[in-house]
Amino acid sequence: MSATDLTSGPEAGVISDAAASAALMDLPEDDSGCPVMLRNAPSTVEFKKLRKRLLREVRQAIDDYGMVPADAAVKRPKWLVCLSGGKDSYTLLAVLMDLKWRGLLPVDLLACNLDQAQPGFPPEILPAFFEKNGIENIIVREDTFSIVTAKIPAHKTYCSLCSRLRRGILYRIAREQGCEAIVLGHHREDILETFFMNLFHGGRLASMPPKLVNDEGDLMVLRPLAYCAESDVAKFAAGMQFPIIPCNLCGSQDGLQREEVKRMLMDWERASPGRLGVMARALAHTRPSHLLDRSLFDFASLRPGENNGGEARDAEEPCGAGLAMTRNLFAAE
Ligand code: SF4
Repeated sequence: MSATDLTSGPEAGVISDAAASAALMDLPEDDSGCPVMLRNAPSTVEFKKLRKRLLREVRQAIDDYGMVPADAAVKRPKWLVCLSGGKDSYTLLAVLMDLKWRGLLPVDLLACNLDQAQPGFPPEILPAFFEKNGIENIIVREDTFSIVTAKIPAHKTYCSLCSRLRRGILYRIAREQGCEAIVLGHHREDILETFFMNLFHGGRLASMPPKLVNDEGDLMVLRPLAYCAESDVAKFAAGMQFPIIPCNLCGSQDGLQREEVKRMLMDWERASPGRLGVMARALAHTRPSHLLDRSLFDFASLRPGENNGGEARDAEEPCGAGLAMTRNLFAAE
């Protein structure tokens, strides 16, 4: 593990909203502590806008979901930032380091790569990247690939077992390193894809939340890129020229179903730009009284003339013609 940590710049503890907005507007005047990783960020107007947008969205997600405890400035939590070497995790680390440098993230960061011994994995890329950029890190090699290929028939996808093993190892590393959270690079599209996978194939309305506590109850799983569009993440990673490690080394993917959902979402966005954003916002605005889940809403107690908390008033119910128009719209796509 490198002892050098250049991620701590002109940081403060908790700062006011006005100061935070100012910190997001421009680069701090004193950039002597700027993380090495960010020193060669493109200086075009377009890239600066992209960088600010990602900073703003990540900070918003961190605030909205209370990812940083109120006493962080005193207790200084530590996060294990998981890097696979893909565009998402590099971007996650860069944005978190940027926020920290601007004094907007009073958290210690430890970058972590779990080398799962997939054939063809280039073990030298991430250590060289961490070293060059002076990033505090830990690299752990655990051959989960052999376990997965021994247990799962070749024609089936490995992902379910592989990700369970990976998650268990990451929890163990987080505990050993004194971290209170593992931080993952899932973005808006990952969350939408998972939502539709669960809807179409799992029979439940669920996705990946920006924040959860593990089953053991001792660690958080955080997804600060939850509000970020995948296209922004891809543009940022390309602009920063991160040394990307291909994500299909194991030869297994989540199967055709996820690919189909991904394609469907991309087609929708192409046909109606902005639809992904609308759908992502919908995930944050659910109305249990207008769904069918009796465990979330007490339909049995609903009676006319009683105070139902305003929850169960009439929604705008689609008429038959409206439903037909919606069907036609989707059929046309
Ligand atoms: S794509 Fe490969 S590395 Fe990723 S979860 Fe699936 S089996 Fe594991």
